[in-house]
Amino acid sequence: MENIAHTDISRLCELLKGTGKKYDIEKIRKAYEYAAALHAGQYRASGEPYISHPVAVAEIVAGLELDTDSICAALLHDTVEDCSDKTNLKEIEKMFGADVAMLVDGLTKIVSLKVEDKEEQHIENLRKMLLAMSKDVRVIFIKLCDRLHNMRTLGAKPENKRRITALETMEVYAPLAHRLGMQKIKQELENLGLQYLDPIGYNEVKNDIESKYGKSLNFIENIRATISEKLTENNIKFTLEGRIKTVYSIYKKMYNQNKSFDEIYDFYALRIIVDTELECYTVLGIIHEMFNSIPGRFKDYISTPKPNMYRSLHTTVIGRDGIPFEVQIRTWEMHHIAEYGIAAHWKYKSGASSKEEIDKKLEWISRLIETEDNTRDPAEFLHAFKTDIFHDEVFVFTPKGDVIALPQGSTVIDFAYAIHSAVGNKMMGAKINGMIVPIDRVVQNGEIVEILTSSSVKGPSRDWLSIVKTSEARTKIRQWFKKESRTENIAVGKSIVDNELKKYSSRLSDIQKDDIISALAQKAGFASADDLYNTLGYGGLSLTKLSARIREEINKITVPEQPEPEISEEDIVQKTKPKHLKSDSGIIVDGQSGCAVKFAKCCNPLPGDDIIGFITKGYGISIHKKDCPNVTDGRKNPENADRWVSAHWELPEDSGSSKNVYEALLQIYTENGIGILANIAVALADMKVMILSVNSHKKSNGQSIINLKVSCKNIEHYNSIVSKLKSLDGVMGVSRGFS
Ligand code: MN
Repeated sequence: MENIAHTDISRLCELLKGTGKKYDIEKIRKAYEYAAALHAGQYRASGEPYISHPVAVAEIVAGLELDTDSICAALLHDTVEDCSDKTNLKEIEKMFGADVAMLVDGLTKIVSLKVEDKEEQHIENLRKMLLAMSKDVRVIFIKLCDRLHNMRTLGAKPENKRRITALETMEVYAPLAHRLGMQKIKQELENLGLQYLDPIGYNEVKNDIESKYGKSLNFIENIRATISEKLTENNIKFTLEGRIKTVYSIYKKMYNQNKSFDEIYDFYALRIIVDTELECYTVLGIIHEMFNSIPGRFKDYISTPKPNMYRSLHTTVIGRDGIPFEVQIRTWEMHHIAEYGIAAHWKYKSGASSKEEIDKKLEWISRLIETEDNTRDPAEFLHAFKTDIFHDEVFVFTPKGDVIALPQGSTVIDFAYAIHSAVGNKMMGAKINGMIVPIDRVVQNGEIVEILTSSSVKGPSRDWLSIVKTSEARTKIRQWFKKESRTENIAVGKSIVDNELKKYSSRLSDIQKDDIISALAQKAGFASADDLYNTLGYGGLSLTKLSARIREEINKITVPEQPEPEISEEDIVQKTKPKHLKSDSGIIVDGQSGCAVKFAKCCNPLPGDDIIGFITKGYGISIHKKDCPNVTDGRKNPENADRWVSAHWELPEDSGSSKNVYEALLQIYTENGIGILANIAVALADMKVMILSVNSHKKSNGQSIINLKVSCKNIEHYNSIVSKLKSLDGVMGVSRGFS
């Protein structure tokens, strides 16, 4: 036992030695021994002794080159939560000091919280962690390392647990890592997450990448050699790295931008790392001299770093074979910050000035926690948190040239409130690049936005709450209403509640209504019904949450007039939707229409095909052809057996009236004659079939393969397209899908 234990920590000590930094090995050893003793007799789902987990987390933390206290906290991070009978924070503080105790506290879940709602408890834990993080960023570094190790070892957990953890990783931790610029951890989290959420999609993309990489090796080697030669000629000291995009980033591109794998050209990028900033620009010049660059793809993140501190030059150029590829140019310091983000920053600089700098980078978190503190609704907090971390930023300019970073999709109103609440509250209009625009206009990268204010404006409009994108703007607007117009808020809140109660009015007397309101107010912790109305009026409480509680109260005091099935949350949602709502996809999954579905890119099913659905978590139901090889393979895995659901087309026979248009892939084998592609295009145009993408390549035997993506209504339509194409001169064969 002793022996195994000491092997564990010796690897950690080796790692620490390798960093060249000074560590208090005695203290770390003591933390390890203490944790090992506390966790003795506990085991992980994999069967390993529990202590292997904190040690592994400490090793990941060591990789970030954090300090002694962080390593100790990583070793101790689960002790207070899991061994509460044997230790507590006081004890940890006595043994390891206040800093370690504070870090461990930030990593310990609130378990004693008295809320029945699991979700609320969960959000409170998240809030606690963010609060701890805003005080000391090391908390989140260690938490991310903890999550990373849990994701790496997730296979040992039961299936349902895996999906919940993976989803939370994708929704909270990966975006958080992104926001902190910690790309390396973010990418690993995303790839691991996707493996559990959409295993079929993951494998599909992974196989595509491997085969494309294999086919492109020659091209890549050529480019590398040419560039290396040229840089050496110019006396530049450089390191050249090739990098394949991650499975998740390609998956996201395919499904977000609706592309087939063939259309993703920049799956491969070259990275050139040099010593100085000046050399970055020199290298850029050399690259642009060697290759044609694609306009609009050059980005100078050195002079304008991303808000998460990322700096580099990006450009996309076209190689000799006409294949575009991306080149990233950066210095070593930029490289470390690109991979480790704020953690690298923390490591590079220490002292008071860096503390201030890091605090500035984390300002958005404190802002989020503070401003959301007076919001009573935890679900709303989570929503605000997700929108704030989940965005890609756009950069817009004030007329003076200051850069304001906003989440993508932000409007002019968001911009106004980002400058100052006084600007937002007095806004009467806006100009973008000198032209008057509506205030709900979404701002785009690089635009100059000018807010027109007037002292005659009384304040923001309530409608703005549903227009703005940032929680900052929403909170500031709410604050205005909260302060400025209690009477009006109460009136608005009252009418919201009255409307809600009208649904049940036939069953309720006025006295009963009053009882319900007082009960609601009391339950939600308001001093009076007016306070409840007020909060509802300025938007501090959402109607969805309230209507559920209203139903609860009504069920308590009234007996339904006639036996009526219990109304569930979903029913209400369904009822508020337009009745004629049809699923856009034209698919019925397991008897239900209107499910979020996506069409698998491996087989692109068409109406009329036999299909089957695979339930991904958070990415909708993925629809495959029943005979798709991924389905045949995937169904062999008994673990995912319950994720396959039957699916069929909404209008299987009716081809004419379906307005949906689908994508079909065609692979056409042709003799290598001039003009064949033109003939094909004409034939398709005659049939009113749209060509969505095309590419072709020559085979060694002189024949060509043309890959076409076309619009298509259903399988009959598809068959008619195929027979038409087969009748053309020079076409030797047509098959479905790309291979
Ligand atoms: Mn842990």
